[in-house]
Amino acid sequence: MDKIKMTTPLVEMDGDEMTRVLWADIKKELLEPFIDLKTEYYDLGLPERERTRDQVTVDSAEATKKYGVAVKCATITPNAQRVEEYKLSQMWKSPNGTIRAILDGTVFRTPIMVKGISPVVKNWKKPITIARHAYGDVYKNSEFQPKGPGKAELVFTAADGSETRQTIFDFTAPGVLQGQYNTDKSISSFARSCFQYALDTKQDLWFATKDTISKQYDHRFKDIFQEIFGAEYRDEFARAGIDYFYTLIDDAVARVIRSEGGFIWACKNYDGDVMSDMVSTAFGSLAMMTSVLVSPEGNYEYEAAHGTVTRHYYKYLKGEATSTNPMATVFAWTGALRKRGELDGIPALERFADRLEKAAIAVIEGGVMTRDLAGLWEGESPAKAVTGLEFLKAIRQEVEKGI
Ligand code: NAP
Ligand code: MG
Repeated sequence: MDKIKMTTPLVEMDGDEMTRVLWADIKKELLEPFIDLKTEYYDLGLPERERTRDQVTVDSAEATKKYGVAVKCATITPNAQRVEEYKLSQMWKSPNGTIRAILDGTVFRTPIMVKGISPVVKNWKKPITIARHAYGDVYKNSEFQPKGPGKAELVFTAADGSETRQTIFDFTAPGVLQGQYNTDKSISSFARSCFQYALDTKQDLWFATKDTISKQYDHRFKDIFQEIFGAEYRDEFARAGIDYFYTLIDDAVARVIRSEGGFIWACKNYDGDVMSDMVSTAFGSLAMMTSVLVSPEGNYEYEAAHGTVTRHYYKYLKGEATSTNPMATVFAWTGALRKRGELDGIPALERFADRLEKAAIAVIEGGVMTRDLAGLWEGESPAKAVTGLEFLKAIRQEVEKGI
C-alpha cells in the first residue's frame, strides 16, 4: 500500500516520561508505516523547556495558530520536587496553561467507550463531552476574613474616577467574604469555541448556570451565549440538525444522569472542574479520556487528558515491564490527523484515522488490553493484560488486516 501523503504539517508537541516513550512507539508502530508523516516538531520535554527558557512552548503555540492543528504529548508541570529532579533554573509554568493562554481556547474532554467496560450510569450509551470555561470566577478570586463587625461593600471605580458602591453585608461578627469576576471577552471566546465544536462533532450543546440566583453574573453568561448563538450560529445549527439549549445547572445534572449521552455539556469554571471529574470517573478510566483545546478562531490542539504517568516511568527506567494505556494518546493523533485531512481535503487521512480508532477499540473488545482496563473488564472470557507496546503491536496487526 502506498503511504498516505500529507500537504500541511501537524504541529507535533513531544512531552515527558512514560507518555514520551509511548509517543515514539505510536509513531513507529501505528503512523509511520501507513502515512508519510509530515510534522513540525517541538520538543516540550522538560529538559528542552529548560534549555530554551520555555520559548519552545510559546513557539509551538504560535505554530498551532499558523497551521491550525497540533497534537500534544503529556508534559510535566514543574513543582518544587521537579525543580530539584531536573535541576531547573525556574519553576516553568504549565505548558497547557501557556498554550491555552496563547490560543485562548476551551478544553473539551470526551471518554472513549468500548463494549465490555460499561459506564457506572447504565443508560449512558454514548460519550458525554464536557467543556470547561477555564478562566476567572472563583479561580481568580480575592478573599477576605472579617475578624469582627463591619460593613462589606462592592466598590467599582471606573476609569474616569466615578465610583459605584453596593453593600454586600453588614457583619456583626466574624465571617468570610469573596470577590470574583469574569470578562465578556473570555465568556464570548468560550461560547464561540463551544458552538464551533458542536458543529464540528455534530452534537447538541447544553449550557447551564445558576442564573435564577446569580441574576447578573450567571445571567451575563447566559445572555452572551444566547446573543452569539442567535447572531452567528443558529442557521448553521439548523443545517447541521443539532440544538443549543440553556437550562439551570440543577436541571442539567438531573438530565445528564437520565440521558443516553452523545452531547456536549458546557460548564462554568467551577462546575466544569467538578463535573468533569464526576463524568470521567463514571465513564471508567482516566487513560480513556481524550482532550482537545479548541480556539474561537478554529485552531485545534489534541491530547490525552492524563499526565505523564510518572509511577510507570520509574518502573520502566528500572527495566520493569509496564502496562501503560496508550489509547488516549493514540486518539489524540487520530483526532489531529482527521482534522488535518478534513481541512486539507485528504479523505484518505480521515479514513485512516477512523480505521486506526476502530482497530484500537476492536483489540480491547477482543479481550486484549492494558492492566488498568483489565481490572474493569466485564467480557465473557477473561482479559489478556499486555504491556503498552504489545497493545500497540496488536492494534497494528488489526490495522494491517484491513489493508
Ligand atoms: P497521571 O500521569 O495522569 O497518572 C496518575 C495515575 O493514573 C497513574 O499513576 C496511573 O495509576 C493512572 N494512569 C494515568 N494515565 C494512565 C495510563 N495512560 N495508563 C495506565 N494508568 C494510567 O497523573 P500524575 O501522576 O498526577 O502526574 C504525573 C505528571 O503528569 C505530573 O508531572 C503532572 O504535572 C503531569 N500532568 C500533565 C498533564 C498534561 O500534560 N496534560 C495532565 C496531568 C498531569 P497507577 O499508578 O495506579 O497505575
Ligand atoms: Mg479538578
